[in-house]
Amino acid sequence: MNELLSVVVPVFNEREVLPTFHSRVMAVLESLSTSMTVQLLYVDDGSTDGSSDWLQSQMGEDASLGVLRLSRNFGKEAAMSAGFDHAEGDAVIVIDADLQDPPELIPTLIEHWREGYDVVYATRESREGEQWFKRKSAALFYRVMDRLSDVPIPRDTGDFRLLSRRAVDALAKLREQHRYMKGLYAWIGYPQKAVSYARDARSLGRSKWSYWRLWNLALEGITSFSAAPLKLATWFGLFTSLMSFGYGLFFLLRTLFLGNPVPGYPSLIVIILFLGGVQLVCLGIIGEYLARTYNESKGRQLYFVMDYRPCGGLHPRDAH
Ligand code: UDP
Ligand code: MG
Repeated sequence: MNELLSVVVPVFNEREVLPTFHSRVMAVLESLSTSMTVQLLYVDDGSTDGSSDWLQSQMGEDASLGVLRLSRNFGKEAAMSAGFDHAEGDAVIVIDADLQDPPELIPTLIEHWREGYDVVYATRESREGEQWFKRKSAALFYRVMDRLSDVPIPRDTGDFRLLSRRAVDALAKLREQHRYMKGLYAWIGYPQKAVSYARDARSLGRSKWSYWRLWNLALEGITSFSAAPLKLATWFGLFTSLMSFGYGLFFLLRTLFLGNPVPGYPSLIVIILFLGGVQLVCLGIIGEYLARTYNESKGRQLYFVMDYRPCGGLHPRDAH
């Protein structure tokens, strides 16, 4: 039986690292191609820095290489989905182009896939080259996610992973706009296996994830996989009602026994401001969910394709 492996690489403005990445990943794929057919599919997510030209020129030289160009920058999650939709492999691997995910780990992922796992994900052992604040905020986020989400989402795990055919097909059925991929991978179920590795610092170019984008990703994760914040408002409301009932009782008794002294303005203003704040936060939470419902209800396509050149495939017989 000749198995087919597809390697999907989302690319957005990676001109500087692409040549190094390409030669490293090709070295690994060539060694694999003795036992299986291998396809490499680059998803060009609307790059503007010459990555597209480089891929174009490389395509001429290399038949095993496919390039799927999207009509604009849709973001990594959409780019990966586009890759999954077009990859034909019995197993599909997603890997970042910036060399933070070592291509040398690919054979290990495949080994576990052959043992029967449907999702084999790579877990970072260390986060080198990342600042203290980023490490800490990531840790906090994973902890919050663990408590809130209905399905356990593995921590310190990026998108670097192998998916079996049926896992890819399952993922392809989930067409939601707000794609928190780490959650979706977990949500589909099937036997999953972690492989740990040391994550390097980005070698060239820079991360497109600013803290603002990371904050938005965190919001995405929480609102896509948990409705707990919506329920929070109810509990907040109940709690404050009970408190104010107690406070009212206290005032009643004080007036009955000690008369009615006028002061009370500070407590009044504090309570009004506090409740105003709570109400605004709750409205904001509802707004976050409402905006997502609105976006989903439009049912827009996840991405559009500019052009597509399918991969030829590196066949076992080409390898010698
Ligand atoms: N990427 C993409 N579209 C985007 C942003 C990023 O396809 O809008 C790709 C990028 O080229 C890289 C991968 O996604 O291959 C990871 O991006 P990055 O290194 O910026 O993210 P980080 O490693 O910091 O999570
Ligand atoms: Mg990176």
